[in-house]
Amino acid sequence: MPETKNKKDQDFNEWYNEIVELSDLCDKRYPIKGMNVWRPYGWKLMNHVDQLIREEMLNTFHDEVNFPLLIPESSFKKEEEHIEGFGSEVYWITHAGLNQLEEKWLLRPTSETAMYPMFSLWIRSHADLPLKTFQIVNTFRYETKQTRAFIRVREIHFFEAHTCHKNFDEAEKQIQEDKKIANNLFKKLCLPFIFCKRPEWDKFAGAFYTISIDVLMPSGKTLQLGSIHQYKDNFSKPYDITYESEDGKHNNCHQTTYGMSERILGALVGIHGDNKGLIIPPKVAPVQVIIIPIIFKDKDKEIIDNCESLLKQLIDNNIRAKIDKRDITPGNKYYHWELKGVPIRIEIGPKDLEKKQIVVVRRDTGEKTSILYTSSIGYIIKELDKISEKLYDDAKIFLQKNIYRMKDIESASNKKGIIELPWCGEENCAQEIENILDGNTLGEPIENNLCEHPCPICNKKATTWMRYAKSY
Ligand code: ZN
Repeated sequence: MPETKNKKDQDFNEWYNEIVELSDLCDKRYPIKGMNVWRPYGWKLMNHVDQLIREEMLNTFHDEVNFPLLIPESSFKKEEEHIEGFGSEVYWITHAGLNQLEEKWLLRPTSETAMYPMFSLWIRSHADLPLKTFQIVNTFRYETKQTRAFIRVREIHFFEAHTCHKNFDEAEKQIQEDKKIANNLFKKLCLPFIFCKRPEWDKFAGAFYTISIDVLMPSGKTLQLGSIHQYKDNFSKPYDITYESEDGKHNNCHQTTYGMSERILGALVGIHGDNKGLIIPPKVAPVQVIIIPIIFKDKDKEIIDNCESLLKQLIDNNIRAKIDKRDITPGNKYYHWELKGVPIRIEIGPKDLEKKQIVVVRRDTGEKTSILYTSSIGYIIKELDKISEKLYDDAKIFLQKNIYRMKDIESASNKKGIIELPWCGEENCAQEIENILDGNTLGEPIENNLCEHPCPICNKKATTWMRYAKSY
């Protein structure tokens, strides 16, 4: 199976479904729609992504916590906008055994309402602030739209950071730190993205404002991978999260959250893969280097010995490597590991043995290079970095090429990607543009958003540029 049945540039959505299944990331045959089974390869990949997130969190002095999955109805109902936003998406537990529960419980759709009653017990004085926590857990949302592996599911592998601060300015500093975290993380994942300040009508339920992290998929649709929220004291008031200040006054905390999900995997698959399969960025690849022995009758022991000693050196250098000793042809092994997106393949055959060399093949470019055995480790480490850079650069070029800043709708209407148009600040005008472009309002750019042109709908002076796109 050298190539996928569906081609990425012809039918992206079908290609995506095919490649997720063929590469054994998850199994969609579980009898509840949208609740997929993580297979070992996919779960390893997700764990490597989580590990990068954990490193970023610990480097910025966030502490990991783990809250219960169930939330009592009374806790959930304290913040009005939040219930309105999530009410139709939650799963309720009404019975325990044969008994009806006195109070219903729900499966967390996100954890504000689980955490904040506890935060109000934990925080007493200004000395307890800032409180910076995060957890990586599963959340549940009742999706009614068509589900799609990693992109739209009902049980979601989820990251959420929750912080409490003395005041608005301190919370704003946290948002700045969150943006840096996003920059670091998504660089390692080779995923260029844009920040968008979501419009009022599309911000997170209960937030003061929401900044989204969006990538552009090859289909021309955007995919939201995460979001950063400034809550002000919108939650700390109903949940009574207060602290005693230096001068003895009782104040409400200001809060922020930062959420990301398994959609990151959807973006990795969709943005980097090709018609041969996945191409996984080296930093998160479950296997970074696969060694294929090219066995010839009388040389087999020597070749395997060589492979084993190379494997040991790679592992000693913290490279995730493996030898494929299965009794199938080398060609079949190539296809298998290409499909799995392993960044580097190494071939060692009788000729290489004679010349004291190995053959290094890059998954992203297909480039083949023979390199002396003695200098192979240094070479492989550099090549892994080069692969990361190229994956990032290619995706960045694609993203930049498909952002269109235009003065009028006519020139925007035949463009595929992200459209930026002048906006007067009126919801009606944005919605009219959504209708014309058949897309969604993504939000304002958070930098370079000053706009001098009139709103293309009402002709009033624009206050900012506004982005529109079709999205998942
Ligand atoms: Zn307008």
